[in-house]
Amino acid sequence: MSFTLHGIPVSRGIAIGRAYLIAPASLDVDHYLVAPDEIEAEVARFCAAQDVVHNELETLRVELPADAPGEMGAFLNVHMLILRDAMLAEAAVVLIRTRRYNAEWALTEQLEQLSKHFDEVDDEYLRERKADLEQVVERVLKALAGSPSAASLVANGVAAAEGGARHEMIVVAHDIAPADMMQFKTQTFRGFVTDLGGRTSHTAIVARSLGIPAAVGVQQASALIRQDDLIIVDGDTGIVIVDPAPIILEEYSYRQSEKALEQRKLQRLKFSPTQTVDGTKIDLLANIELPDDAAAALGAGAVGIGLFRTEFLFMGKHESPEEEEQFAAYRKVVTTMQGLPVTIRTIDVGADKPLDHRSAEGFEAATNPALGLRAIRWSLSEPQMFLTQLRAILRASAFGPVKILIPMLAHAQEIDQTLDLIHEAKLQCDDAGLAYDPNVKVGAMIEIPAAALAVQMFLKRLDFLSIGTNDLIQYTLAIDRADNAVAHLYDPLHPAVLGLISHTLKEAQRAGVPVSVCGEMAGDPALTRLLLGMGLTEFSMHPSQLLSVKQEVLRAHRPNLEKPVQDVLAAYEPAELQASLARLAAI
Ligand code: PEP
Ligand code: MG
Repeated sequence: MSFTLHGIPVSRGIAIGRAYLIAPASLDVDHYLVAPDEIEAEVARFCAAQDVVHNELETLRVELPADAPGEMGAFLNVHMLILRDAMLAEAAVVLIRTRRYNAEWALTEQLEQLSKHFDEVDDEYLRERKADLEQVVERVLKALAGSPSAASLVANGVAAAEGGARHEMIVVAHDIAPADMMQFKTQTFRGFVTDLGGRTSHTAIVARSLGIPAAVGVQQASALIRQDDLIIVDGDTGIVIVDPAPIILEEYSYRQSEKALEQRKLQRLKFSPTQTVDGTKIDLLANIELPDDAAAALGAGAVGIGLFRTEFLFMGKHESPEEEEQFAAYRKVVTTMQGLPVTIRTIDVGADKPLDHRSAEGFEAATNPALGLRAIRWSLSEPQMFLTQLRAILRASAFGPVKILIPMLAHAQEIDQTLDLIHEAKLQCDDAGLAYDPNVKVGAMIEIPAAALAVQMFLKRLDFLSIGTNDLIQYTLAIDRADNAVAHLYDPLHPAVLGLISHTLKEAQRAGVPVSVCGEMAGDPALTRLLLGMGLTEFSMHPSQLLSVKQEVLRAHRPNLEKPVQDVLAAYEPAELQASLARLAAI
């Protein structure tokens, strides 16, 4: 039966495909489709891991000290029974064979199914057996980690298996952490739907960076949509249509091909210079999360990297990456960009971007993580970690133009401490004979309202500014950017937000300090005129948005935008604001 769900659109376009439900537990493991000719090898890998665990448990049982409590033996017996239970093992093998899931994915998927049954039973003793089940699965996962699979990724999977009649895959999940989202960069999912999330949650940002349609905050999607359901994701409106009628399917297929045509037309703009009709040169730069993204930035015609979110290098690891590993990552971006500027932001973790190794230390238990020890606050509290990152960035500056960008600054002493540490990192490089650019520029994200209001403090001390509208909106309006329950109140056009952006731009320009916008507002073509009219000349966004924004820039006449934009900034009543925005759009 066909039905429609509504969520928050986060990445434009239309995706049509089969639902791939991903259970929360399975997100902690790799998940990919095994190539058809590797299925039996994957089953064998699973069985071998089972044998390893069986032997482990057997050894434990044999070596139980004579005075061990009686329950210990019984407990090991239960684990051995669970290990071989058809509901777990055989079902997982069926998932490998029929769905082509890798062994880890199949096992955690089955764990999720069985867990639901356990939660439903009344008998407390039986309910407690769920913990045993989880422990057994953990053991098997560990054993699997010791025997990595040679199976190939989705990229060469579905198409080959299903020939011409293939269906694209659309991920449906309750929620996906930003670090897990990174896995999808290498795979060919065609869309995303999640129950939770907001427009600028980091999960949404990564989905947008993949350039594929996505809707978040689609409540109950993962409960209502079933595996393999045919679904349409309209990334422009946030609508998800499940099991569409043929006529609806036809309509969306048509719209999909229209959009593909539009995209192809946009490609023609790639090599034209970016300037407004009146000849103002505009710089369009790229936001990236991983070193490999730099190639797409260059390919889209970005004139540099305006924001490299380095925290993604730190996520999902037990330890912070070593200096050499970081240096290699930063240098790769710098060399890929072939002499174009690369703005490397120091680690910005916390709130909706947790780090694995920190959660182990109880960090994530902060009362209010968005207001807690995140971003530069954490870096300053971990000077050795921070110095390691700064040295790695400085060393990359020997290979091309690099700027250092600091997230979440609000206080003068934070800026001063940061500058002192950068100085110290330079001295350490000198001592070690490591080359770097001594004039490397240092800038601040303006993403806390206090920073925007006290921007003079920043202009005096730093070389450039970059406005992070995602957090600026979150903190100005007190709206959690990742919480779909308040997503309707997350408003980039709130007069207070526009006032802070405009104030920052004006003051920076007056002081002759370069300023850009790197939040998601910069990549929204519907807001390009507004930002141009406020005087912005440097926009940083995901490469997938670059040509749409460029098209708006090429059509804009800056002097004509000034008056309507002044009207927008002076409008405090919603009706007045809407009328001013309509006039701006009609120019
Ligand atoms: C922002 O806050 O606008 C920004 C660009 O940084 P992030 O989205 O990584 O918090
Ligand atoms: Mg931010």
